[in-house]
This record gives sequence, structure tokens and C-alpha cells, in this order.
Amino acid sequence: MMKPAAIEAFFATLQAANPQPQTELEYTSVFELLAAVLLSAQATDVGVNKATRLLFPVANTPQKILALGLDGLESYIKTIGLYRSKAKHLMQTCRMLVDQHGGEVPGTREALEALPGVGRKTANVVLNVAFGQPTMAVDTHIFRVSNRTGLAAGKTPLAVEIQLMKRVPPAYAVDSHHWLILHGRYVCQARKPLCPQCAVCAYCEFKDKTKA
Ligand code: SF4
Repeated sequence: MMKPAAIEAFFATLQAANPQPQTELEYTSVFELLAAVLLSAQATDVGVNKATRLLFPVANTPQKILALGLDGLESYIKTIGLYRSKAKHLMQTCRMLVDQHGGEVPGTREALEALPGVGRKTANVVLNVAFGQPTMAVDTHIFRVSNRTGLAAGKTPLAVEIQLMKRVPPAYAVDSHHWLILHGRYVCQARKPLCPQCAVCAYCEFKDKTKA
């Protein structure tokens, strides 16, 4: 496992390269963020952005999505994988937001996870990005990078999340999930990590680093 001093250097390096990391999902309100994250399960951010660029100008509040109706909503998101179930969940979520939360997105884990289609990972993203909480939304990239580098070991996303929450220094806690996602997406890629170009190679404990 990576030692605390190496973890500190790992995140300091990622921070220096990208001091204000952002999600690549496009949104202009907490509701748009929630809807985009809900639509992004097992889909790429690029694919979700293509759909929401058309959807959000027409409907970007729970009330407006409900007014579109299920068929109307589906027509905007059918390029996204699993769009039928996502449309159903988003409609149900909008109904709950209107009926139980005054049309606003709640800022607690319990209330977020009670929304249809919103699991722990989606709640973690919304709590982190919209509400500034130091949550760790472990997706496929964070899961891989954490296990490979020795940052955190675990057989499930939840196990990795718990380890990361213990091991990431507080100064990096809020932004660390962005750095890890971006590092996994563009450098520490699944099939062939780009180790020769990797800025944190010196701190990484992966045994099979690639060569130039
Ligand atoms: S050295 Fe290679 S395996 Fe380690 S973090 Fe960098 S890209 Fe990933």
C-alpha cells in the first residue's frame, strides 16, 4: 500500500497540474447536475452532454421535465444507454422533488438516496460537486486507479470508498475524486496505462508499469 508521504505527494502533484478540477458533465444548476449524473450511469459524459445540450434548454427543472411526459423525455435521451429505465427514474425523481422537497434538490445523503435511480455513487457526486462535501464517488476509474497504485485496496467500490476516505489527506478530500477520475480517464487507462507520461509514476506501486 502507498505510504502516507507518497499519498501526499501523489495528490500534491495532481493538484499542481489541475488546481480546480471540474466534472466533465455540463450543468448550470443543482437539478441539472443531479439529472446529468442520473443519466450518466454506464454511459460516457460526452454522450450525456450531447443529450442534455438539447434537453436542458427545453426542460431543466423537475416541473418542466414532468410537463414533458415520459415519451417527451425519452425522445431527448434515447441516445444514452438504458434510457428507458433512466427516463422512468428521472420522472419519478422529479415527482418526489416537487411533492416532498419544494422542487429543490435535497442536500443530505439520506434524502438523495431515497430518490429513484439515485444510488450511493450519484449521491456522492451531488454532495461533492453541488454541496462541497468531501465524498468519494467511486466509479470504474477510481476503483481501478486506487487498486493499481496502492492508494486504496478493495474488492468493491464501497470498500475502496471507505479506504480512500481514511487515506486521502483532508486538504485534498473535496477535489480528490475529480483528480482520480481524470487521471484514470486520460492517463491510467484500463487497457494500457500511460506510465511513461504519468506525473505520479514515482509514487505509484503498480507492478506492471508500461514502458515507453
Ligand atoms: S504509473 Fe502507470 S499504473 Fe501508476 S498511476 Fe501512473 S499510469 Fe497508472
